[in-house]
Amino acid sequence: MELLGNGVSPGIAVGQALVMERERVPVFRLLLPPDATEREVQRLLRAVAASRRQLEAIKSRLSREVGALHAYIFDAQLLMLEDPLLRDRAAQIVRQEHVNAEWALRQVSEQLHALFDGFTDEYLKERSSDLDDVLGRVLLNLVGAADGPSLARLPGPVVLVAHDLTPSEAAELDWAKVIGIALDGGSRTYHTAILARSRGIPAVAGLRDATGRVPPGALVVLDGTQGRLVVEPSEPVLAGFRALREREQRRELSLQATRTEPAASRDGVRVRLLANAEFAEEAATAVQYGAEGIGLFRSEYLLGRGSLDEERQYELYCRLLDQMAPHPVTVRVWDLGPEDIVPAGPSSPNPALGPRALRLLGRAPDAFRTQLRALLRAAAHGPLRVLFPFLRGASDLREARAFLAATARDLALEGHGHAVEVPVGMMVEIPSAALTLAQLAPEADFFSVGTNDLIQYLLAVDRADPRVAALYEPLDPAVLSVLAGAFEQAGAAGRPVGVCGEMAGDPLQSLVLAGLGARELSMSPTAIPRIKQVLRAADLGHAREAVLRAMRLSSAAEIEAHLRAELHEALAAADAGES
Ligand code: PEP
Ligand code: MG
Repeated sequence: MELLGNGVSPGIAVGQALVMERERVPVFRLLLPPDATEREVQRLLRAVAASRRQLEAIKSRLSREVGALHAYIFDAQLLMLEDPLLRDRAAQIVRQEHVNAEWALRQVSEQLHALFDGFTDEYLKERSSDLDDVLGRVLLNLVGAADGPSLARLPGPVVLVAHDLTPSEAAELDWAKVIGIALDGGSRTYHTAILARSRGIPAVAGLRDATGRVPPGALVVLDGTQGRLVVEPSEPVLAGFRALREREQRRELSLQATRTEPAASRDGVRVRLLANAEFAEEAATAVQYGAEGIGLFRSEYLLGRGSLDEERQYELYCRLLDQMAPHPVTVRVWDLGPEDIVPAGPSSPNPALGPRALRLLGRAPDAFRTQLRALLRAAAHGPLRVLFPFLRGASDLREARAFLAATARDLALEGHGHAVEVPVGMMVEIPSAALTLAQLAPEADFFSVGTNDLIQYLLAVDRADPRVAALYEPLDPAVLSVLAGAFEQAGAAGRPVGVCGEMAGDPLQSLVLAGLGARELSMSPTAIPRIKQVLRAADLGHAREAVLRAMRLSSAAEIEAHLRAELHEALAAADAGES
């Protein structure tokens, strides 16, 4: 069986699939050896018993506190828990299909929901929420037990097959055991894809129903270059993929040899190549691939690992500066949604346009203050730059700067050491900001264009929705025209402008950006050697002319064809080392 999606992180992985379903807790679907099934049934029964004890305790507490009448609600749940259709059926599935208890429960849940949906009695129909509650409790008891798999404790090197991975799940993940990632949803600019790329782990997104179709433990080949997931491949197919993988690994090694060479074009234009990072450990990868600094540290990923007080953040930012010295570290201020703050707010009807990042300042001032304090203090130790995301224009930027200045004043009053002059930058990812850089230039020390969001907002295409992935076209004439205008405005005002969206790490698109004037490109560290090869082989004056001509064409496809023909020599360098 072959499933097709979008290759979002190149490379080939061959290994066993670990399928993860997300209920309220992640559910793995495992095939057990026949002699392990009785132990698994016992594990299930222990979780059911623990759930019963918990429900009885809740019921008696409620009877004490609000009267027996309300406590009866839990009788329905206790009855469900003991019902043969739930407990015995789940045990039967474990015995017959040799699957783990979590997966058996999931199947029972589907069967019982189908039954409940068929009821005509409204009262009975409504009990399906009690069913979810009961099953969720048993599941939590199962996963809470020390012997089940979890994201932080994977059974071995696996190709993780998941619907998606949230930032907090990605933070928890045992990355050392993940050799490939297959996602039902997502696209190239989806955060999990970005993470996989930055760790050099092959990934395919947009596979739609891989979690439903890949059998547990199946041998799979994940081809992140072509966007394929082959399930139980034949021996000749497998041999073909292994040869391809070796060739890719050889090419990777030869590209890494350019680590210390500068990225300067043939006509002498120097472009700084920096790394995007989500976790502190990635600084080492950035150095390994020759990054000249961190151009975007997506700090919000830190929150997936629990809340961080000022002291721990300060130490972490100082450590990043140490690792990257003498190069700069650009930390983006929390780019969060309402669901990420404590107490969590309701999620927005349209999260891409709702309250996020500094729009949440009023709701969570302490979270922002703590981060800015840690940043200002760390900036005394090295070239740290503060980057504000998701600003519409000058008024938003002024508000951000005022908050930063007030935080610096507090530090000064308390006698804390901190940097007085910290470069303050702004992400250019909302079209209104891109269109008004001339007005913004006096107020920002630098700009960093976030093409991932900029494209999504310009073209009205959700970057995380695979159903519209084909419409997400970075080379659309409107995108190029807005980018060209932004570079021109920033250039006229003498403000440096870089790019930290995924366009920066694509060979052709990096030439477009450098041609239009970007002198700093920040990308997944593993993309750096390849982009360096391309830039070193390019004449940026020629690239500029080619882009300005191509921009007048009317579609992304025509623009791409034109540019590929014009820039084919430099692009061929991206494949250098391929044997
Ligand atoms: C962007 O929007 O281009 C960007 C770099 O930020 P993120 O991908 O984290 O939204
Ligand atoms: Mg963004």
